[in-house]
Amino acid sequence: MSDRLGIPADWAWLRQVHGADVVRVLEAGAQGPGDAAYTSVPGLPIAVSTADCYPLIVESSGAVGIAHAGWRGAATGVVEALLRGMAAAGHVPARAAIGPGIGACCFEVGPDVGERFRGHEATTDWGTTSVDLSAVVRAALGDLEVWASGICTMSNEAYHSHRRDATPQRQVAVAWLPA
Ligand SMILES: [Zn+2]
Repeated sequence: MSDRLGIPADWAWLRQVHGADVVRVLEAGAQGPGDAAYTSVPGLPIAVSTADCYPLIVESSGAVGIAHAGWRGAATGVVEALLRGMAAAGHVPARAAIGPGIGACCFEVGPDVGERFRGHEATTDWGTTSVDLSAVVRAALGDLEVWASGICTMSNEAYHSHRRDATPQRQVAVAWLPA
């Protein structure tokens, strides 16, 4: 995969815990625990893995950030924490990209989860209460220019979905600064 992308083979990975801790990455290898990271090191790929949670990439001058945002992380403020962490280090976020994750069409939730996301409630394709987690992530990005894939990992069988298959397999999102 690194060859195809033309990037170094040694990536930095987080030990993801569905929280909101942000890791500043200085070298490749295992990092964390944390669910967001950024690096200002050129040519150092940073990655998160997801299967229904949303991968998020944030671009700024001199740094790139990445996050893993499921409902727990989103409710805990992982997106805001990444933006704050990057800005505090002098890398004011400029643009963001939201990858594939479970859509409002499929993300059925109980009342305990639904009430954490007032204003982002929706309805599944089968008529039960859901949360539009992509919209939650987008809202947390404020005024940033945002690209979103709009792909639901549970509806689209080309993607791994923990809810659909209880699969241990994951999508990987990777971000890097040009070397
Ligand atoms: Zn769906």
